[in-house]
Amino acid sequence: MSHAFVSNCVVTPAGTRPAALLIEGERIRAICNPSEVPADATLHDCGNLAILPGFVDTHVHINQPGRTEWEGFPTATRAAAAGGITTVVDMPLNCLPATTTVAALEAKRQSAHGQCFIDWAPWGGAVADNQRDILPLARAGVRGYKCFLIHPGCEGFTMIDRRQLEAALPHIAQSSLPLLVHAELAGPIDRATLALANADWRRYSTYLSSRPDEAELEAIRLMIGLCRRFNFRLHIVHLSTALALKDLRRARDEGLPVTVETCPHYLHFTAEEIPDGSTVHKCAPPIRNHANREALWQALAAGDIDMIVTDHSPCPPAMKSSDRGSAETPRFDEAWGGIASLSLALPIIYTECAARGYTLDHIARWMSSAPSALAGLSHRTGSLEPGREATFVLFDTEAEFTVTPGHLHFHHPISPYLGETLRGQVRATWLRGERIFHEGSFTPNPTGREIII
Ligand SMILES: [Zn+2]
Repeated sequence: MSHAFVSNCVVTPAGTRPAALLIEGERIRAICNPSEVPADATLHDCGNLAILPGFVDTHVHINQPGRTEWEGFPTATRAAAAGGITTVVDMPLNCLPATTTVAALEAKRQSAHGQCFIDWAPWGGAVADNQRDILPLARAGVRGYKCFLIHPGCEGFTMIDRRQLEAALPHIAQSSLPLLVHAELAGPIDRATLALANADWRRYSTYLSSRPDEAELEAIRLMIGLCRRFNFRLHIVHLSTALALKDLRRARDEGLPVTVETCPHYLHFTAEEIPDGSTVHKCAPPIRNHANREALWQALAAGDIDMIVTDHSPCPPAMKSSDRGSAETPRFDEAWGGIASLSLALPIIYTECAARGYTLDHIARWMSSAPSALAGLSHRTGSLEPGREATFVLFDTEAEFTVTPGHLHFHHPISPYLGETLRGQVRATWLRGERIFHEGSFTPNPTGREIII
């Protein structure tokens, strides 16, 4: 039995046009002109709703097992489905155990089993002492490795220093998998923080000063040097500073295999607008100023930044210091650094793109095909093409809404986007030929599964 989804706006790798998406079972059979729909296909008239490939978010902290009270597979994957994200790649922290051994990966698989509304895949961790686990993790199915050049701010996952990296990198290069790097170095941050000993930590400007651009810049330069020496696939996660773009462009011009991501919060908020005490905006590296935000947008357009992923990193409300009551303004040095946005990424980016003249084709590339390629999933998902999985999103570009807790769907209804007015709304999400989300409702039975290559 085949289905035909006809829309005035089908977003394909060859451009956006009126077309019919023909699906059969779990796969896309063809994309044809609306007049060529076979007579035996069940017709779904989508009118002006855009049809986009399901989005792939390669930076999500699900936290299960071990910190399921922060976030878990059922809630994270429901939130993703509501936002049109159909594949997430899970970070190896802040779950316990962290995904740094094959045994820990198996524990994660067990906790995910039967819980997922969308598909998922794991990243492994490259930490201080697991060089011998790198290749076994690749054989067991991780899509790459994440490392921190600075303490990650939570127990269970260690940072990696230069010497330990040099021990791990031959194994990582051998795996052909990417190394995802949290690129901040402690030196510039420690120096800046020392100078702020008497500053007011309720002010956002204090927090911003404590994590200077140089911390990112120096870390990125260190990693480019190692990439040149060891020839591994280097991926910079959550780039915040636009000052590093020149070095990154030069590295790519040289032919080094470097990719770069940034996140919705760096593309939407600016430091100038963050109120004092608003620790829901705390993340690391920090949200920087207006000029920096615009430079990140230009870098996306120029291809110097490849993709936009959420870095969805929730925590219990108390850790954002929002349980202290209104009498006390939360302090940025005490609050957890992480922003939850999984269900909102698409409307956030669509809102910003509409204001700058970027199109749905840009969004499909930045949020679906590029992250899918990073995780090695392009043969299955990441674009609307015959033979790929029938995983897609019906998106209403005309809708506008103000974000309420009811829009979030993740475990704790906390987000800096609450109260923001956004453009564009996901009407339905289809996963491998099955509708899993429709107008605010989810399929009763989770049908997502781990993508095993
Ligand atoms: Zn992260």
